[in-house]
Amino acid sequence: MSVNSERVFDDVNLDRPKYHPSTELVYLESTAGEGQEADTLGVRDPYHSSSVPLYQTATFKQPSADGTGEFDYTRSGNPTRSAVETHLAKIMKAERAFVVTTGMTALDVILRLVPNGGQIIAGDDLYGGSNRLLTYLTKLGHVEVENVDTTNVEAVRSKLDPVKTRLVLLETPTNPLIKIADIRAVSDLVHEKCPNAVVVVDNTMMSPYLQNCLDLGADIEYHSGTKYLSGHHDMMAGVIGVRSLDLADRIFFVINATGSGLSPFESWLLLRGLKTLAIRIERQQATAQRIAEFLENQTDIKRVLYPGLPSHPQHQIHISQASGPGGVLSFETGDIATSERIVEATKLYGISVSFGCINSLISMPCRMSHASIPAEVRKARALPEDVVRLCVGIEDPDDLINDLKSALIAAGVKVKA
Ligand SMILES: *Cc1c(COP(=O)(O)O)cnc(C)c1O
Repeated sequence: MSVNSERVFDDVNLDRPKYHPSTELVYLESTAGEGQEADTLGVRDPYHSSSVPLYQTATFKQPSADGTGEFDYTRSGNPTRSAVETHLAKIMKAERAFVVTTGMTALDVILRLVPNGGQIIAGDDLYGGSNRLLTYLTKLGHVEVENVDTTNVEAVRSKLDPVKTRLVLLETPTNPLIKIADIRAVSDLVHEKCPNAVVVVDNTMMSPYLQNCLDLGADIEYHSGTKYLSGHHDMMAGVIGVRSLDLADRIFFVINATGSGLSPFESWLLLRGLKTLAIRIERQQATAQRIAEFLENQTDIKRVLYPGLPSHPQHQIHISQASGPGGVLSFETGDIATSERIVEATKLYGISVSFGCINSLISMPCRMSHASIPAEVRKARALPEDVVRLCVGIEDPDDLINDLKSALIAAGVKVKA
């Protein structure tokens, strides 16, 4: 075992964001230690490359027999992975950030903080994969999971146990119902009542560009980097940002012990994708807002769910904690067959699970991404089967609205201009 694989983090002064997030995303500051020359994010590159080099290697030669090199084995650490982690820590305002193979891996690593028999409180409109993993761990008898409506602070309070509760998992906005949890209120409540519990937010829907959960009081924020952070649906990654060095040590231990760190090439791709995050999201949410307003204006559409609409019941909470509504919206037609016809009639929106891509996507979550949640559970959680989810891409906004209009008409929905 080398120094690296038993890393204990010192409280080095990480660069704190100084500029607008859109600038920080493209501005890679040197983080080299004293006397070291660093060009990009602490990677000491003799050729001064403008882009962080890809260190596609499993091992690193050591300067001496006692193995004191900064890196020794890529499972424990790799310069390309370190570069994207340092950059993400800055963007997420985290003490440390870690990148792992997928968003589900991120949750799996975080859940290993919970001791046997610990209680987890999680939302009732969770991402399907998160629900599947929690259910599995419950069945094995490792943890107890209480699913509550985390958008209702009193519902969370009613389940808190000062001893047993070890982790509270929030998602906001949820997907596909676009419900909003009050991150500040839940974090304050949990920290007051349950000193042993960590508040964890799956921030995939917003990205750190629109919402900083650690600033709002959460202990850990994580992402599926497969979505907005990478942005092109050509890779998978998970990202974990933590507020304390103690959490950093515990998370790093699990990542190193299980070998779940992101590969060098994927780390390199993720860093490349991150640089365009701001410009993609600005475009995606401006178009999503227009689409939401267009749909809300249609009498034949039963309900439109989007945090950017003043009609959203938790619009105020959302704008108090995030700087924008994001690029995902859902709507209900009141009829499953009509919803199916709309999904199949669009041309520009690919029928696909997932979101956060430069291309627009359309899906019926109850048939696709959330199909792993049993029908009776979906029903108990009031997940309507007719919900259509739109994930808005960067195409021309008029083209996207016209395509949706044509699909509505083809599906037999009356459309006003
Ligand atoms: C996609 C997604 C995940 C899982 O991430 P993967 O990268 O697919 O493993 C978790 N949470 C949310 C909200 C997601 O959308």
